Amino acid sequence: MPVPLPTATTRWRCTLCGNLTRFDVTRSSRVVEYVHLDLGGEPSVEETEVLAETVESVRCRWCNAVDRVELVDRPGAGDGNGSTESASGSGSASG
Ligand SMILES: [Zn+2]
Repeated sequence: MPVPLPTATTRWRCTLCGNLTRFDVTRSSRVVEYVHLDLGGEPSVEETEVLAETVESVRCRWCNAVDRVELVDRPGAGDGNGSTESASGSGSASG
């Protein structure tokens, strides 16, 4: 079961404990590095091109559950309708 990847408007949430912020991500990637060596032979990577990248597993730092994350909306994503933190009525209440 692949790990759902967060997007610009979603984030991970541990389905067991509700953790939103701390995860260990096991990631495998295939990259091309431009290695520039100086005259002394000391290498430094000046450019990195990612050819492929895969998230293999995500472990919750709080409860150690593996691959038990779900995607939830980020706060502020979706409606860009002001940002007051008050829960006052939600509109459709008459029937
Ligand atoms: Zn957790």
